[in-house]
Amino acid sequence: MTLTTEIINKTDSIGAHNYKPLPVVLVRGEGVWVWDAEDRKYMDMLSAYSALSQGHGHPKIIDALTAQAKRITLTSRAFHNDQLQQLYERLVKLTGLPRVLPMNTGAEAVETALKAARRWGQRVKGVPAGKQEIIVCTDNFHGRTISIISFSSDAEYQDGFGPLTPGFRIIPYGDAQALEEAITENTVGFLMEPIQGEAGINIPPDGFLREAARICKEHNVLLMMDEIQTGFGRTGKMFCCHHEDVQPDVMILGKALGGGVLPVSAICATEEVMQVFDPGSHGSTFGGNPLGAAVACAAIDVLLEEDLVARSAELGEYLMERLRQLESPYIDHVRGKGLLVGIVLKKEAGNARRYSEALMKAGMLCKETHDHILRMAPPLVITREEIDWAVERLDGVLREGHNLNETK
Ligand SMILES: *Cc1c(COP(=O)(O)O)cnc(C)c1O
Repeated sequence: MTLTTEIINKTDSIGAHNYKPLPVVLVRGEGVWVWDAEDRKYMDMLSAYSALSQGHGHPKIIDALTAQAKRITLTSRAFHNDQLQQLYERLVKLTGLPRVLPMNTGAEAVETALKAARRWGQRVKGVPAGKQEIIVCTDNFHGRTISIISFSSDAEYQDGFGPLTPGFRIIPYGDAQALEEAITENTVGFLMEPIQGEAGINIPPDGFLREAARICKEHNVLLMMDEIQTGFGRTGKMFCCHHEDVQPDVMILGKALGGGVLPVSAICATEEVMQVFDPGSHGSTFGGNPLGAAVACAAIDVLLEEDLVARSAELGEYLMERLRQLESPYIDHVRGKGLLVGIVLKKEAGNARRYSEALMKAGMLCKETHDHILRMAPPLVITREEIDWAVERLDGVLREGHNLNETK
């Protein structure tokens, strides 16, 4: 038995089976490359769903981590620390929103935004207590807490987890008219992803973000943009909503904010929204910890210093152009923005999982989303030559798609 099999068996025999990982055990990573337990090398074209935008083990981020780890790691918010305001200043500058509330995971930041909208709705807009409504979109993905899955349109996320949290309405993604029609006097917020990553790189119609912003403003409804996956350069702008020059009332950040090292999330919001939080109303033991804050500062500095946002725009275009030239009978179309790219397979291609597995064997790691879309979201530090290398692997695998067998 190989070390890989041994580790996988042990892991599966004890751990919950809430994931179905590709059968590879990663032990080391550097930039866009990772190595498995047998010392085989792979290109990481998933980068932890965009959380590793700065690449594995970026020296500057690891230096910030180790230096801060030697000073102080955790203070709790019962006391101040000297790192958090540095992160605040960076986030305010990048988002244009004046207030920040730090959390850890993306789902916690989404929950924070929901709480903010409900309290703002009651205290500022004047919606009767308990009547606040929040509008969301079909095929949304905002995390896995009970309240968040309560407004999923995917039954699998909810099955058996009821009773669900009330107070949400779902409209079709990208449908401005439906948004306007769904708004009532009790609507406090509209929560959306500027591109739906988990749903398969769904891009809304041009102008939708701007329309949504206009409608929200007109009806005194908070626009809450979940930029957890799309933020920090992933789509070729610092934030995806900047493609349409939209400024939301609440921006939700996570993933790449932690530089692929620690879970760091936050909401950025207007004064009017953030003032609803008073001492004791919300919090997190680890939220805003100095270790996470120092890492997040370094993660942001790396993005800026290495101009990774422009690189994402340029190389994303290049990757999509190369993919569109592939002669494969199995590709329906390629879509994306920046380095967030989906290859949508035709029905006759069969399950996308077998392509992920074949690509793994060819030395490239990516993950299918649903059963017919391959998602590419490499670290933004990837080079043009590395993209060429990846396209060659994809070319090989997608040509012979029907010959591939799926392992169970
Ligand atoms: C990943 C993700 C989340 C949830 O983040 P976690 O850190 O996994 O809790 C929320 N929204 C979007 C758009 C995401 O991609």
